[in-house]
Amino acid sequence: MLEHGATPGRKVLVTGGGRCNLTHASSADEIAPLFGQASRFVLPALHAFPPQAIRSFFHTRGVDTCCEPDGCVFPVSQKAVDVRDALVRAVRDARATLHCGVRVDCFVLEPDAETGARRIAAVHSSAGTLIPKNVLLATGGQSYPALGSDGSGYALARAAGLEIIEPVTALAGLFIPADWVKSLSGILCEQGSLRIDAKGASKKPLVGPILFTHKGISGPPALALSGEISARLLSEHDVTIRVSFKVGRTLDDWSKLFAQWRERHGSRSIHNLLSGELPRALAVALCTAAGLSDVVMARAGKQELLSLAMHCSECPLRVTGTEGWERAMLTRGGIARKELKATTLACRRITNLYCIGEVVDVDAPCGGYNLTWAFASGFLAAQAINTVSSRSRQ
Ligand SMILES: Cc1cc2nc3c(=O)[nH]c(=O)nc-3n(C[C@H](O)[C@H](O)[C@H](O)COP(=O)(O)OP(=O)(O)OC[C@H]3O[C@@H](n4cnc5c(N)ncnc54)[C@H](O)[C@@H]3O)c2cc1C
Repeated sequence: MLEHGATPGRKVLVTGGGRCNLTHASSADEIAPLFGQASRFVLPALHAFPPQAIRSFFHTRGVDTCCEPDGCVFPVSQKAVDVRDALVRAVRDARATLHCGVRVDCFVLEPDAETGARRIAAVHSSAGTLIPKNVLLATGGQSYPALGSDGSGYALARAAGLEIIEPVTALAGLFIPADWVKSLSGILCEQGSLRIDAKGASKKPLVGPILFTHKGISGPPALALSGEISARLLSEHDVTIRVSFKVGRTLDDWSKLFAQWRERHGSRSIHNLLSGELPRALAVALCTAAGLSDVVMARAGKQELLSLAMHCSECPLRVTGTEGWERAMLTRGGIARKELKATTLACRRITNLYCIGEVVDVDAPCGGYNLTWAFASGFLAAQAINTVSSRSRQ
């Protein structure tokens, strides 16, 4: 194993806030749909090494795992370093050698006499040239370059002639230029939902906490949509999202509630009433955005109340960007799936090359799914290489 960092698995150490959400307590079939358009592609890997097998793998290497109420699986110790150390032990147990501080620079390709395709004849690295039987490309994506994944895997694959789907940031906070949004930095709206309001986007909102930041919003639904938003921002100047600050409560529900307030609490200011439903600062900001700042309920105009109901139930927010590569947790895009066979992760056009993990155009939301793909794809490709090797020995 060639690793250009001074120590192995540096990214694992920061996963799950240092606790490492290593998988999810669901079956392969339950997890696959979370990979969106890649859901069929990831299935053979997830079946070969499903979450339960991942947990057993770590259990037999001294790392017991536990499951949180939302199904996220962590080491009982709550220490990502235990996961990393178990992986390093597994490398040693397999009698493989880990060479840290060695950077892979390029592949030398030659025609494969047997198949008519091409094969990797040599790997040039900072420590010299290697002649490989097989190459497993596991360089990760482009996010958090300080932890080693600096996009060099894409350069290697591109130079070898593979198609790369334009990498964009995913699992990143959203930038929203509206000043009233930025003024709410630090406010958490626990029961929100959001969706992209654009042609071809899913109408189904993603539910979860919405966290206001000094540049826009974050939290699980914002992070989950950021990959699609980044991809759209490649060709569009901005993307509109619709935010509900109280999940399940429609524009009609809000309008009915306001009508009740008008009847029963006409002399009270609207933002005070709304503060019973939403965080106070958010209530004040929404009233201001709807033209109802410091207005008592009895004096509120019909149009303004309708606007307030709309701001509470499907507030349109213009997203102009996402957090950059330094802070994005994931890369969307990468080696095109059509370059690989889903059943082995072997490259169709380069016979002895296998591609696994985040370098492939596969991504999923938070919840331990991305590490699950990294582990499962690694397992499937290794199994395929072993099968080919044992066949060639017979
Ligand atoms: C802050 C953060 C938190 C996260 N939390 C979670 C979580 O809790 N659960 C989850 O499922 N996912 C999480 N992820 C995502 C997850 O960490 C990645 O999807 C996963 O690590 C990808 O594994 P990988 O092996 O493909 O790539 P990486 O883990 O990125 O490893 C690639 C390795 O290849 C090395 N490398 C790269 N290029 C070269 C080269 N040219 N030569 C030699 N070596 C090279 C790098 O140094 C690196 O060590 C998180 C990511 C981040 C950034």
